[in-house]
Amino acid sequence: MVAAAAMVSLSSFSQDLIARQAPIDKKLKLVDSLALQKQIRAEQAEYPALSLYPNWDTDRVHAYGREAIVPEAYTIDLTGFRMPTPSTRITSPFGPRWRRMHNGIDVKVNIGDTIVSAFDGKVRIVKYERRGYGKYIVIRHSNGLETIYGHLSKQMVEENQVVKAGEPIGLGGNTGRSTGSHLHFETRFLGIAINPAYMFDFPKQDIVADTYVFRKMFRGKASSGAHDEMLASGDNGVIRYHKVKSGDTLSRIAKVRGVSISKLCKLNRITSRTTLRIGQVLRCS
Ligand SMILES: [Zn+2]
Repeated sequence: MVAAAAMVSLSSFSQDLIARQAPIDKKLKLVDSLALQKQIRAEQAEYPALSLYPNWDTDRVHAYGREAIVPEAYTIDLTGFRMPTPSTRITSPFGPRWRRMHNGIDVKVNIGDTIVSAFDGKVRIVKYERRGYGKYIVIRHSNGLETIYGHLSKQMVEENQVVKAGEPIGLGGNTGRSTGSHLHFETRFLGIAINPAYMFDFPKQDIVADTYVFRKMFRGKASSGAHDEMLASGDNGVIRYHKVKSGDTLSRIAKVRGVSISKLCKLNRITSRTTLRIGQVLRCS
C-alpha cells in the first residue's frame, strides 16, 4: 500500500510537472523571441547605415581606409534635408583652393548663429582641432551620408546622440583654421567627399533632386581625405579604384592601372607583402 501510494503521488506529481511545463516552455519561447527582437533592434539602432559602414568610430573623422567596401553606385535619399545655417551665402565653394583641396563648402554665418543637423542621424564625433576644423561635429545619417560642421563656437550635442533634421547641434563661429566666422560644411559618403552643391541648392535652401546617385567611378571632382597626394599626382581630384579579381597581384594591378606599387601601397595603407582579398577595393589614384 505504501508503495502504491508512493506511485500515485509520484505519478500525479510528474503529471503536474508535465502540465506545468507547457506554459513555462511557451513563456520561455516568448522571452527568447522578445530578447532576440530586442537584440535585433539594438543592432539596427547601433548606428545609421549599418550595412554600408565598417565601423562606428567616435575618434577619427576619416575612419574608413581599405575596410570600407565602396559600392559601384549608391542612391542617396535626400528628402528630409534641412539647411544647416540661417544664411545661404556661400563664401567658398568645394574644390581645389590654395594648393589644397577644399573638401566642403563655406557658408557665411555670424558667431552664435544656430547650426542645425542637415538630416536625421546620430552624432559620431564632437571634437576640437586647433589647426583644422576647430570645434566640429560629424553626424552619420541613415541615407549613407556623413555631414561635417566645422569652425563652431559651441557644440550642443554629444557623441552617440540621436538627432533630427533641423535640430540645433551647435553655434556658428570662427574656431580652428578659419578667417572670419563661417560654417565649413562637408558631405561624405564612406569618407569620400562629395560636392554639397551637387545635392543641395543652397540659395533656395532645397535639394537639387530627391536622390543623388553616388558613382564610384567618374565622379567628376569629388575627392577623398587624402587630397594632397591626389593633387600632387595631377589627377584633378578624380579617384580611380580597382576591385581585386582572382589572380590579381599588386604588380599586375599597378601595371594595368598605370601606377607604381609603392603608390598603391601608400594609398591603401598596405605593404607589398599584404595578401589581397578577392573583391577588395583598392584606390589607384
Ligand atoms: Zn571650408
